[in-house]
Amino acid sequence: MKVPFLDLSLQHRALRTEALAALTATYDATRFCLGQDVEDFERNFAATLGYPRVLGMNSGTSPLHVACMIAGFKPGDEVITTPFTFISSAWGINYTGATPVFADIEEDTFNLDPVKLSAAVTPRTKGIIIVHLFGQPARMDEVMAMAKQHGLFVIEDCAQAVGAKYKDTPVGIIGDAGTFSFYPTKNLGGCGEGGAFVSRREEIQTQARHIRVHGSDRRYYHDIIGGNFRMDGFQGALLNVKLPHLAGWTARRQAIAARYLAGIKLADVRLPGQPAYGRSVFHQFTLRHPRRDALREHLAKNEVGTDLIYPVSLHLQKCYASLGAGHGSFPIAEQAAKPA
Ligand SMILES: *Cc1c(COP(=O)(O)O)cnc(C)c1O
Repeated sequence: MKVPFLDLSLQHRALRTEALAALTATYDATRFCLGQDVEDFERNFAATLGYPRVLGMNSGTSPLHVACMIAGFKPGDEVITTPFTFISSAWGINYTGATPVFADIEEDTFNLDPVKLSAAVTPRTKGIIIVHLFGQPARMDEVMAMAKQHGLFVIEDCAQAVGAKYKDTPVGIIGDAGTFSFYPTKNLGGCGEGGAFVSRREEIQTQARHIRVHGSDRRYYHDIIGGNFRMDGFQGALLNVKLPHLAGWTARRQAIAARYLAGIKLADVRLPGQPAYGRSVFHQFTLRHPRRDALREHLAKNEVGTDLIYPVSLHLQKCYASLGAGHGSFPIAEQAAKPA
């Protein structure tokens, strides 16, 4: 049996009639930028996943950018994040002129290690971008305790963790701001670019709402510096069709992951850790093996798709060479990028 790494066409075929009807309605009503479909999606997303309020945005990178603007990061400030993530987790820091500072990860969950995070704090540290990687919630109690101690702004990158909870709280509203991506490959994917911003703090959500439309509450009056971070109507319409299926899709991911966890008996394989504080929504099922490349080849020969996520840690990317963190700076992250 052919098992591709990702095949969106299955899901899209099943929803085709409903999706095209929704997109057609949006087309006919010319609701292209924000509008009713996006408002409906925001309300549905909040109600379904347990958020007080939600703002639709035009990618998963945008709400990270907006969150960094709201945090007030500026040149000279340091913001700590993980070197083992998709690059976008760190971009917002650069957009504000602040400096990304990396701290190493935990071997088991691939998420930031609170002990290493703590050791990276300096008098210039202003914030933390914590990533719930591969769908696995990070250790938020430890992160929040440290943030409180040092007065740091905490941004949760939930791009891979839609629907995940830390203890009983949905990820994204434990810190000061939370961000989502609806890039097509994510657990909840749009038909193009999309993202969302959440906060448990109403004043932060209000600021984000204004920043999303050019720093404006009233058209042509700009009280704060903003930008164009609007979700488009087609994404809202499609995501409204998909959202009711998310819980079922997540349960299916978790059931398949449970079968993998119980059934993969390969010698020397390292399966993803399952800490008791929060259940993964398994954006990826990430395993490690000393003969990784041979294993991938073997699986490919048997028509089972795999991917290598992530082959190069952020601190070793060319764009961050000037930060001066060379090979050996974050051994656990570097090890995770290599064969087990
Ligand atoms: C996908 C992703 C993003 C960015 O989302 P886009 O919608 O592609 O801009 C940010 N962080 C992580 C961890 C991601 O996986």
